[in-house]
Amino acid sequence: MATKRDYYDVLGVSRSASAEEIKKAYRKLALQYHPDRNPNNKEAEEKFKEATEAYEALSDPEKRRRFDQYGHSGMRSTDFHTYTDIHDIFSNFGDIFGGTIFEDMFTGGSRQQRRRDEGEAGSDLRVTLKLTLEEIASGVEKKIKIKKWMACETCRGSGAKPGSSTTTCPHCGGTGELRQVSRSVFGQFVNITTCLHCGGSGQIIKEHCPNCRGEGRTQGEATIKISVPAGISDGNYLTLRGQGNAGRRSGPAGDVIVEFEELQHEYFVRNGDDVIYNALISFPEATLGGEIEVPTLTGRARVKIDAGTMPGKMLRMKEKGIPRLNGYGRGDQLIRIQVWVPSKLNAREKEFLRQLAEGKHLLPSEEDKKKNKSFFSAWRESASG
Ligand SMILES: [Zn+2]
Ligand SMILES: [Zn+2]
Repeated sequence: MATKRDYYDVLGVSRSASAEEIKKAYRKLALQYHPDRNPNNKEAEEKFKEATEAYEALSDPEKRRRFDQYGHSGMRSTDFHTYTDIHDIFSNFGDIFGGTIFEDMFTGGSRQQRRRDEGEAGSDLRVTLKLTLEEIASGVEKKIKIKKWMACETCRGSGAKPGSSTTTCPHCGGTGELRQVSRSVFGQFVNITTCLHCGGSGQIIKEHCPNCRGEGRTQGEATIKISVPAGISDGNYLTLRGQGNAGRRSGPAGDVIVEFEELQHEYFVRNGDDVIYNALISFPEATLGGEIEVPTLTGRARVKIDAGTMPGKMLRMKEKGIPRLNGYGRGDQLIRIQVWVPSKLNAREKEFLRQLAEGKHLLPSEEDKKKNKSFFSAWRESASG
C-alpha cells in the first residue's frame, strides 16, 4: 500500500486550520475533482476520495485529535464511511455543500429520484422490422409479437399475494431511504442509504404473489402495433415509450426501439427518395419507338419510348418515388433504358439481322460518335436529378 498523505497536506491547510477553513478547503477540492466534471478520470476520482477521507477525519474534533496525536495509526476503520459509489459521498456530505451548489454539483441527484421510484425500471427491447419498398412508400401499420416482461396479472405488478396487504416499511417510513443525521460543529450531516428492508421500494410485502414470486412481473408475449411513417430509410428507428419490459414491482416499463430494415426489391434500386428501374427494351422498340409497361411502387404504368432511344437514356416519372419523410412531396421514379441484346436466335432471325446490317443507317456516323459524348453528359444530369 502506498503511504498515505498527511490529511492536512491533502486538504492544503495548516495544522492550526479552523473548522471553517477545513470545510472550505474540502469543498474546493470536491468541486475540482467532482466525478461529473472529470468523467472517466481515475486520478480525479482518487483525489476526490482522498480529500473526502481527509475531511471525514479532520472535520470531527475527536478524530482530528487522534490524528494530530498518532497520525494515520490513530484512525480506525469505523471512522470512515464505506462508499460503494462516488455519488454516495455526495449523498453523505450533501448538506455541507448546501443549496444551489449542491444541486448543480450533484447531477447524481437523478439517482436519488430513481431510488424513490416504486420499483426497479424495466429494460428496453430492440426489434428489427423488415419492410418492403412498397410499404415504405405508402407507410404501413405493423403488428409484431414480442416476448417481454409483463406486469403480473395476479398481483397487478405489486408482487404481493392478492388479499395480503403491503405495509409501509417501518424502517424508512415509506421513503425507501434511510437518513442518519449526525451533528457536528459544522452542522448537520445527513447520511442517506437505500433501505435494505424494503429494497428501496418503501413497501414491505407480507406474502409474495405465488404467480410471480414477488417480482411483480412475468415473462409473456405481447403484440405491439407500429405505425411506420412513409419515407423511412434503412437504419431509421422509432421509440415506443413504455412498451418494453415491465419493471420489477410496478417499476416503470422500458421502451421498445424499433429499427427499420429495408428489404431488397426485385426491380427497384433506391437512391434517396428516388427509385430506379432498369428497363430492358428490344432493339426494334428502341429504334422505332413505342410504349412499354413498367412496374411502379403502386402497380404498373405505361411509358412512351421515343423512336431512336439510345441505351442509357433516363426517363423520369415525376413524384412516383418515395414520399419525403418530412411529409413534403416525394421522389421520382427513374427509368434507365437498356437495350436487350439476344444471344439465341434462330436461322430466320439471323438472316434478317444480316440483311439489316447492310442498311446504310445502321452504322453510326462520325457525327453520331461525337454526339454520343453529349448524350453521356445528359445522362449524368438526368441521373443526378
Ligand atoms: Zn404477481
Ligand atoms: Zn424501507
